[in-house]
Amino acid sequence: MSNLLEAYAQVAGLDVITHLRQLAKPLAGMKVAHVNSTRVGGGVAEILEKLVPLMQELGIETTWEVIEGSDLFYQCTKNFHNGLQGKHISIPDPQLKEYEEINRQNSEILRHKLEDADFVFIHDPQPAPLLSYCGERRGKWIWRCHIDASHPYRSTWKYLRQFVSAYDASIFSLAEFAQTLSHPQYIIPPSIDPLSEKNIELPDHEVASIFTNFHIDPDRPLLLQVSRFDRFKDPLGVIQAFKIVKKYVPGAQLVLAGGGATDDPEGAQVLDEVQESAVGEPDIHVLLLPPDAHRTINALQRASDIVLQKSIKEGFGLTVTEAMWKGKPVIGGDTGGIRLQVINFNTGFRVNTPEGAALRIRYLLHHTQKRKEIGLKAKEFVRDNFLITRHLREYLTLIASLHFGCADRIELNLDKCSSSGQV
Ligand code: UDP
Repeated sequence: MSNLLEAYAQVAGLDVITHLRQLAKPLAGMKVAHVNSTRVGGGVAEILEKLVPLMQELGIETTWEVIEGSDLFYQCTKNFHNGLQGKHISIPDPQLKEYEEINRQNSEILRHKLEDADFVFIHDPQPAPLLSYCGERRGKWIWRCHIDASHPYRSTWKYLRQFVSAYDASIFSLAEFAQTLSHPQYIIPPSIDPLSEKNIELPDHEVASIFTNFHIDPDRPLLLQVSRFDRFKDPLGVIQAFKIVKKYVPGAQLVLAGGGATDDPEGAQVLDEVQESAVGEPDIHVLLLPPDAHRTINALQRASDIVLQKSIKEGFGLTVTEAMWKGKPVIGGDTGGIRLQVINFNTGFRVNTPEGAALRIRYLLHHTQKRKEIGLKAKEFVRDNFLITRHLREYLTLIASLHFGCADRIELNLDKCSSSGQV
């Protein structure tokens, strides 16, 4: 077994790795391409960073392509993001034209690779029209939606659906996000990589270094929310909750750590609002981190007593999984993928308002043992459900199911399989 797979066996168990190898064997040599719009920042990049090398390690020729856009293009795709998450938004024609034109331009660069692939995974709306410019494609194309599309604004979805409906399948993170489409839809929740810099165990001194680096008092309670400065992540609601908590727990400290994904043009404006709301509050630390600050985020999550993700809409919320994996109790918005992870009173608390968040924060700060219990359950829940090995297994299963179609039987036994795949 390769060193990479060996390392995952240590965390997820040998059976899990054996199962992956069995599933991958009939798919060996296939060409798979993933396409998204940023190599750093945000959950999609975070997942592809390790999913791609793991698929390669399992014998599948996997590449990761990133389309490049203009400011106008990203304004448009941010509008799609907001529209899919339910915001009533009218997207100006020049933006839509730029969206299609940028995809056409990118297709000029990527066409040969994508047309030659057996499977193409297109992540989110940004590169969705690529398919319409790849007329000679020979493989199957899958649209992977990472966004909470439970109640999309009708006209946004109507526009995007014209591109999406041409795909062979789509993937949503939760059953509630599935749409009326004529192709098969798969439900695959995201995952974290337990061996990435973001999630590996850290030495105590590295965790402790964040107290000195960011002027945080190690002897007072620390609350944290890590996320892009995006309204759907509700950073202002977090500050509001914190201000309530301060009345009862004056020593509490809050870190709001974030940065911008390169495909998110609204971040600077939301950051301004957050900074304004934190004026005169020395115990609120707003940290603007570079996109590769994975170990710093890891240390912040480990140093915190409670992690918040008070989103109003959330496709999944990898930050929730990351914190749970570190044994932290999470207080999350009662929405989207957070519902899948935070089981109320069990692996954390779900809340709907700043007042609700403040109530749960106070409860957890006053019940140390409960914090530990919830954190332990949260970690095991992630091990069972949200590690990248489970995610990969489901991608492989999806590829096999689309590839072998309605074959009566797919032979997965490692010893008996031929490398070309035996049906
Ligand atoms: N993240 C980061 N730096 C930041 C903010 C977020 O590295 O300043 C990471 C975070 O740790 C997580 C991912 O980006 O791994 C965000 O994924 P999530 O699903 O929580 O939200 P998204 O940004 O995709 O909506």
